[in-house]
Amino acid sequence: MAGIYLHIPFCRQACNYCDFYFITKQNKKDNFVQALLLELELQKNRLDGHEPIETYYFGGGTPSQLSDKHIDDILNILYKWYPIIPGGEITLEANPDDLSPERIRRWKAAGINRLSLGIQSLDEAQLHWMHRAHTAGQALSAVAMCQDAGMTNLTLDLIYGLPKTKPGAWEKQLLWLKDQQVPHFSAYALTLEPRTRLSKEIANGTQAPLEDSEMINCFTILESFIHSTNYEAYEISNFSLPDFRAKHNSAYWSGKPYLGFGPSAHSFISPHRIHTLPDLNSYLTQLINFNQLPPHSIENLTEHDFINEYILTRLRTIEGINLNFLREKYNYDLSKEFPSELQEWNTKGWIQYSEENISLTWKGRLQADGISSSLFKI
Ligand code: SF4
Repeated sequence: MAGIYLHIPFCRQACNYCDFYFITKQNKKDNFVQALLLELELQKNRLDGHEPIETYYFGGGTPSQLSDKHIDDILNILYKWYPIIPGGEITLEANPDDLSPERIRRWKAAGINRLSLGIQSLDEAQLHWMHRAHTAGQALSAVAMCQDAGMTNLTLDLIYGLPKTKPGAWEKQLLWLKDQQVPHFSAYALTLEPRTRLSKEIANGTQAPLEDSEMINCFTILESFIHSTNYEAYEISNFSLPDFRAKHNSAYWSGKPYLGFGPSAHSFISPHRIHTLPDLNSYLTQLINFNQLPPHSIENLTEHDFINEYILTRLRTIEGINLNFLREKYNYDLSKEFPSELQEWNTKGWIQYSEENISLTWKGRLQADGISSSLFKI
């Protein structure tokens, strides 16, 4: 099944850790939507001959920064040129400070059936430290507001390993989420990305460097929480109740085709990966003035790329790497290429390993990047 991704680059303010493409100027939203509709029309035949479309995903940036009319206009074009299967998953990322009961009802009536809420933390001091635009009170009431409006298919984004996490605070957040019966959540370890406000502040000494111990402590609490609930850790950063896995993101991890629209969006139609330049001005000029596709790069994926991408993404999932798939499709046998490494990681308790499969243990999830890059085909 194919998916459609839309990158909406507007944010109310810049969070200190964020390295996504976003802008905080608010005056180009109408032009952006006009350009996006043109881009959707220009590409309308790109998925001909491919699988039916199962998911739409409004990501960003902050899609809830668009007006409801903008969202209606985009959906109407999507329904027209990229018809989705009945019951397909339509997700909108929204921040708590953009929600109101009326907006949620209107989004639902327009066809949005899943909201991804950028909660990040329920601690006022941590939200302030991250430079988030919402308060803890808004985060707390966001879930109730969605549920009252009949939008029960929710996913929440949380960040852990933040400096000076108060004892018990992270566990309390996880228990709150369970009490609210939130069916899906993503929990990301805070990482330092170059060119973010946080990395500049650490470099100039106004912030202390991040401590691995904070992250590992929260990770251990997360592991205990998952073991004591019926959330499934189906991907390193993604957790769901039964039948609530994210269909859109799962398609990325399974190598399915998808089309991305908007500045900085990626598309994948085998064997090509297309990356639109992360620049709103050139995006607007090219589409509105010339009715041409925005500046983009095209990468021709080689067999090596496919193998390495499979290893990287599948190792992050609960299913792990299917060794027979690699043997049969690419004649690449990890058990013969890396017998001593696999044995060592198995002994250390980082992987579960059989003739058919390699998957990470909880302990191994902390080593995921090192393990997958060691297994790459060079
Ligand atoms: S984390 Fe989300 S809301 Fe914050 S700047 Fe990045 S995209 Fe915008």
